[in-house]
Amino acid sequence: MAGKILKLAGKTSIITGGASGIGEATAHLFANHGAFVVIADIQDEKGRQVADSIGSDRCTYIHCDVSDEQQVISAVDFTVATYGKLDIMFSNAGIVTRSNQTVLDLDLTQFDRLFAVNCRGTAACVKHAARAMVEKGVRGCVICTASVAASRGGSTRTDYVMAKHAVVGLVRSASKQLGVHGIRVNCVSPSAVATGLAKRTAEETTETMKVYKALTSLKGIELTVGIVAEAVLFLASDDSCFITGHDLAVDGGLQKLPDGDDVIMYKL
Ligand code: NAD
Repeated sequence: MAGKILKLAGKTSIITGGASGIGEATAHLFANHGAFVVIADIQDEKGRQVADSIGSDRCTYIHCDVSDEQQVISAVDFTVATYGKLDIMFSNAGIVTRSNQTVLDLDLTQFDRLFAVNCRGTAACVKHAARAMVEKGVRGCVICTASVAASRGGSTRTDYVMAKHAVVGLVRSASKQLGVHGIRVNCVSPSAVATGLAKRTAEETTETMKVYKALTSLKGIELTVGIVAEAVLFLASDDSCFITGHDLAVDGGLQKLPDGDDVIMYKL
């Protein structure tokens, strides 16, 4: 496009969870802004389709289960070997569990799996991205996907709320520790956005979005994955060059989390 400013020209990025939803939208946006994109996900077919749709000159898919540190190391090392460096890590992969549980009936097996992906996986991505950046002297940036559930309690979804709070703790600590290397670390916190995450039917998604709409200050607009991707682009680009340790709410001024009974619950 004539005159378009490419905000990520020549940058190399990894997007975990890039095979669908927020990650997929961000992969397209990053590539449109001149970045090379490595999609790291466990949905191989879907991930390859997204990479193909972006184009093999810009985007590659790699299988990477973020709960396995060795696979995160391989994804980071593959990126550096292929593109020479890593500038941007978007640590976005996440899952939900059966979520109409309170602390009284918390299923700790599900809890462990959710923490392995949403929390430990995020830590592994930040750790190894930072390692690669420091090794190459890259003043890079890391963006994690937290959530509106990262800054307030929920009447249900205890494990998810806990893990997302931990992501913000990681971002705040890592930003202090990595600032000396010129590496910025931030997160985005979206409210409800229609993706495959909760495995709801189209009707259930519509009902859930209605509940969130009623609790959102800003009227006449609904959150989309494209809007979240634009916030991620802001944090990945030099537009945010003096911002680090920040949790950017992308929630239209959500007043509170819906009560558990108000939303169609996440399904397994
Ligand atoms: P999504 O299900 O469309 O995308 C999540 C992606 O993560 C999928 O492609 C999935 O295959 C991948 N993934 C799952 N486990 C993985 C693993 N172990 N290793 C690598 N990849 C893995 O859902 P989404 O809504 O786009 O979710 C992206 C992030 O946004 C998540 O961290 C989620 O918690 C967060 N979030 C979502 C919402 C929402 O309403 N959709 C709101 C706030 C935050």
